[in-house]
Amino acid sequence: MRQQIAAANWKMNLTYQQGEQLLDGILNANIQLAAHQSAVFAVPFPYLVMATQKLSGRNNYFASAQNCSDQKSGAYTGEVAAEMLKSINIRYCVLGHSERREYFFEGNQSLAKKVELCLANDITPIFCCGETLSIREVGAQEGFVETQLMESLFHFTEEDVRKVVIAYEPIWAIGTGKTASVEQAQEMHAHIRGLFAKKYNQATAQHIPILYGGSVKAANAGELFHSPDVDGGLVGGASLNATEFTSIIRALK
Ligand code: PEP
Repeated sequence: MRQQIAAANWKMNLTYQQGEQLLDGILNANIQLAAHQSAVFAVPFPYLVMATQKLSGRNNYFASAQNCSDQKSGAYTGEVAAEMLKSINIRYCVLGHSERREYFFEGNQSLAKKVELCLANDITPIFCCGETLSIREVGAQEGFVETQLMESLFHFTEEDVRKVVIAYEPIWAIGTGKTASVEQAQEMHAHIRGLFAKKYNQATAQHIPILYGGSVKAANAGELFHSPDVDGGLVGGASLNATEFTSIIRALK
């Protein structure tokens, strides 16, 4: 079975101590993950070492960065390089979250460089894509997401692209309490998988996990994750609550 992933995105929330408490709460639930399941915690940079230490010894629990630089190293004050993440054993990095695209002007070309640097450092990119409400309202969402994938990912070899995780996050559903319907999520996930099949091949398309993000919570995770092309979720708000997030992990296929 394809890898199924419950990924928490803490964004810029929680103090260090609150973060420790939250992880303890989730780990205390003692959920044993199957080989095809993972729980990933995208925490703020200063908490990565703490999170890695807490999660070590638990099968398939990983800390993740929320971003990295599109430069290898050098005079880029305030930036964090993929190589630095590797040096503290980070295995995942969220890239191209819509908040980064909107507030920090990240574009598809810069994201292509970030993906490349992550892959060069054995870090799995969780590559976010998704349309705004106005794009969905005119029915242009499939073409919009296709351009995001084409400009950031489709120049990679089959071997490299298989190392990427996709997170489809319709922007109108992020932090709004509005979730895409199961049908809308499945339709876009199938479309994305189809694009990988067309560009690469069916085996590659079937290999790549595609997570859904946008107001996932305990109450809707089960039905969303049950869809054939939805391989888990990238979760913001509900990942800040131990009870909510443990239920979401339990909802993985
Ligand atoms: C996110 O941060 O990627 C996200 C989907 O947030 P929320 O679950 O709060 O909508």
